[in-house]
Amino acid sequence: MPRLEGRACIVTGAARGIGRAIAEAFGAEGATVVAVDRDEPAGQTMAAETGCRFLALDVASEADWERLAAEFPACDVVVNNAGITGLETSGPQDPEHATLEAWRAVHAVNLDGTFLGCRYAIGAMKAKGEGSIINISSRSGLIGVPGAAAYASSKAGVRNHTKSVALYCAQQGWAIRCNSIHPGAILTPMWEPMLGSGPDRAERMAALVADTPLRRFGRPEEVAALAVLLASDEATYLTGAELSLDGGLLAGSAAAPGAR
Ligand code: NAP
Repeated sequence: MPRLEGRACIVTGAARGIGRAIAEAFGAEGATVVAVDRDEPAGQTMAAETGCRFLALDVASEADWERLAAEFPACDVVVNNAGITGLETSGPQDPEHATLEAWRAVHAVNLDGTFLGCRYAIGAMKAKGEGSIINISSRSGLIGVPGAAAYASSKAGVRNHTKSVALYCAQQGWAIRCNSIHPGAILTPMWEPMLGSGPDRAERMAALVADTPLRRFGRPEEVAALAVLLASDEATYLTGAELSLDGGLLAGSAAAPGAR
């Protein structure tokens, strides 16, 4: 029995990476999926390959969300997945040297985008009084990251806003659940600027997961499997939760005395 039969789902940042994997997994579970992304050519290709419907949308644009709400006034699941690290642009991202403009650009996508996506979702779910909002935060939302301070701050904001949304919806008497997923290193195009294509790529990859107890990158499909669970009726008592999906990283092995 498909776990999301008949459900209308919106997934942001779905042209590639984790968002695409979630859109595909939802479709495989019987959902009708609207994939949205600011990258229109990649989104159209993805839609043709997966059977999802595609809509071009910049998650940081209020007008774009209003356009989406006019076309899809009701839905059952919203995944706020679109995000940027800031590292894909040049310029420092540390707390001493980052520009205000760079700081704001990251927050605009990751945090404003999630706020707008949650606001849309509440409006689109409240008539039915139930639904699932899934916010993709990061392990970086739970720890400090000196070289990507805006990313870490924005993802911490996503974690916290998830709980406000969960409590607000519960207060209203709605079974609209809101949870955050905190992935560790998941192998997607987001990592390409850090991995490069040189001869030391494999070495860099190994170094990046050296402190991860499972000693490997996660796969987008592994994040998608958790999103399916959160979207389904198997998770109807789960709200306001933060779920780490990081190969054991934040269990603390790197911090534990004498661990290695
Ligand atoms: P990705 O491969 O870079 O894909 C992200 C997609 O979102 C891209 O298609 C991107 O389009 C799109 N996007 C970016 N800004 C947007 C905007 N303003 N409006 C609409 N779409 C936008 O990233 P990913 O690795 O799949 O990551 C997905 C989410 O998981 C992000 O929120 C990320 O922070 C989070 N996450 C990832 C990891 C990881 O290791 N991969 C770990 C923790 C958390 P463009 O190509 O135009 O930018």
